[in-house]
Amino acid sequence: MGFEPTRRFRAPTRFQDEHLQPLGHLPLGALYCTPYGRGAMTFLHGPNACTCMLVLEEFREGNEMRRTGRIAVFFLGVAVLFTGTTVRAQTSPNMAHPVYYVQTRERAVALTFDVSWGDKMLPKVLAVLGSEKQPATFFLSGPWAKTHPQSVAAIRAAGGEIGSHGQAHVDLGDKLPSTIAENIRAADSILRSYTGSPLHFFRPPNGDWSPRLIEVAHTFGYETVIWSIDSRDWMNPGVTVIEQRVSNGVFPGAIILLHASDTCTQTDLALPAIIKDVRKQGYRLVTLGDLWQMGPAGRDDPRGSGHKPNLN
Ligand SMILES: [Zn+2]
Repeated sequence: MGFEPTRRFRAPTRFQDEHLQPLGHLPLGALYCTPYGRGAMTFLHGPNACTCMLVLEEFREGNEMRRTGRIAVFFLGVAVLFTGTTVRAQTSPNMAHPVYYVQTRERAVALTFDVSWGDKMLPKVLAVLGSEKQPATFFLSGPWAKTHPQSVAAIRAAGGEIGSHGQAHVDLGDKLPSTIAENIRAADSILRSYTGSPLHFFRPPNGDWSPRLIEVAHTFGYETVIWSIDSRDWMNPGVTVIEQRVSNGVFPGAIILLHASDTCTQTDLALPAIIKDVRKQGYRLVTLGDLWQMGPAGRDDPRGSGHKPNLN
């Protein structure tokens, strides 16, 4: 295995829990042994929080420890907030993952739409939702919201819940914390000018996330939300394909991803069948905010595994 920490010091108890066993000196460059592997702690400074990262020299793959050829950075979900001179640490590795679903046995699923382009598809989607008396959550791109005030007003008039889809529609996971923060902040100020109150949910562009992004989003009060069911409606694969992807994928607490941008030409046509089909399976379609009330966040990725978490 080769890697042995050269120094072992007792760490302050606030850093100790089952997930994080400090082996080295604190804070910077501290050596840790974790379920993920062993390495040194580093800090990334944000506006009012620090993100602790573990730079691993060994990592666990299955039951085996492997040495990293290059240095790998794994986030541990350690948020250290500096208030004056007090240091508070929360250690919950799972918090370093985004929300994919909600842990509930209730037969409810969240209906969510990302919107970043155009003004043709949205009214059609709103018309279907209106005629079905169906609430939904809309993740809006900042620039789109800024240039489409009437569309935003229409969403709000229809009772739609608004989340943030960020500013520039680019992958943010690998970006510097300052770049991520600027993206989130810019969209947040535009969206808040409409809502007049803080937003709760952030869906990163392209669903591209990293522990760093999740932590930065937290500093703005956002939960980072991905999805459990990807309709891939933006590829315009056909109304039936979209409908079946959704209705075959539902499970209690699932989050459905659709789009109401003009690049999508079939979403409004698939939507009536999706709503009918999902309801026929005994599910209620609700906003993300409503689903959020039904249980704790599901942060393990159920996509592609065929495993539907709340159905066993
Ligand atoms: Zn998008």
